Amino acid sequence: MTKEAVKVLIIGSGPAGYTAAIYAARAGLSPVLYTGGQPGGQLTITNDVENYPGYPDGINGPQMMVDFQKQAERFGTKVHNALITAVDFSGYPLKVTVDEKHEVTAESVIIATGATAKYLGLPSEILYYNKGVSACAVCDGYFYRGKEVAVVGAGDSAAEEATYLSKLCTKVHLIVRRAEMRASKIMQQRVISTPNIEIHWNTETEDILGDDTGVTGVRVFNNKTGEKKTIPIQGFFLAIGHKPNTDIFKDIIDMDETGYIKVLPGSTKTNVPGVFAVGDAADKVYRQAVTAAGTGCMGALDAEKFLVAKELEVA
Ligand code: NDP
Repeated sequence: MTKEAVKVLIIGSGPAGYTAAIYAARAGLSPVLYTGGQPGGQLTITNDVENYPGYPDGINGPQMMVDFQKQAERFGTKVHNALITAVDFSGYPLKVTVDEKHEVTAESVIIATGATAKYLGLPSEILYYNKGVSACAVCDGYFYRGKEVAVVGAGDSAAEEATYLSKLCTKVHLIVRRAEMRASKIMQQRVISTPNIEIHWNTETEDILGDDTGVTGVRVFNNKTGEKKTIPIQGFFLAIGHKPNTDIFKDIIDMDETGYIKVLPGSTKTNVPGVFAVGDAADKVYRQAVTAAGTGCMGALDAEKFLVAKELEVA
């Protein structure tokens, strides 16, 4: 097994991970960043990002992540294109391994592994991804202003996304698989009282329809009556939940029941001293590039403080 010792190890390469790297590198902490299986994270599967401050004309998602990486490397971050496969935080320094072949010992670890949106599993979701299919209304809703769209899901995200889209779009079809919604009462009430949201109860998606221009409709069926219908839409938004990419930290780092890492409120501290969590892996509410970057900065500052205190302990 090859070995490497680092001061600050960053796991993940989205806006949170790279922002942590920029701050840690500029603080002279020589961070080492492991990209994970999807270098650049969720933004690399997005087209235009128009809501990240500082880009008045918007920026292409993959390009943005190339720029994040360049900025982190400019200050000395070492970036490895590899996936951390196991962690051992039972002692200090902290340990992680890559495929049981390479061991990294770290004085502090910043977890920035993100979350992945859930999909229905239809081939047409892939076919029309970014051509009408999206898993983020706040990111992509603007491209559908003045158009008719559908949202699938019945939790707080679906309620929030449907309400958000109702302000931009002519009509929003909310596709709910049961006869009730899981969303909080107040958010449901908001959906029900919005005139241009139509709820389709007991309804499931059979297929997303489209052509060269992108999505043109959705074929749905009522799971009680069997009735099928096609709803003409140009945007299809998934809001059926996200899965935080935190499986390797299970039973080691405190998480909620859905796998989001718990941090001390107002900080990025986890239950393990020296381990910090930033970005979507610890955020089930906001999940934006800019909020991820913000917590990435917090993680680097928290790690720096931790390392200074550790040095004072030793001195
Ligand atoms: P949830 O897991 O709460 O809800 C997912 C929804 O998607 C459920 O209603 C579920 O239906 C539906 N669903 C799942 N799979 C399918 C499928 N294959 N076909 C159709 N529908 C499906 O996820 P959310 O992202 O909504 O919320 C996650 C967490 O984040 C929650 O704790 C929520 O409260 C929180 N949140 C809070 C917000 C706020 O406070 N502003 C905003 C957004 C999220 P079913 O009900 O039938 O299982």
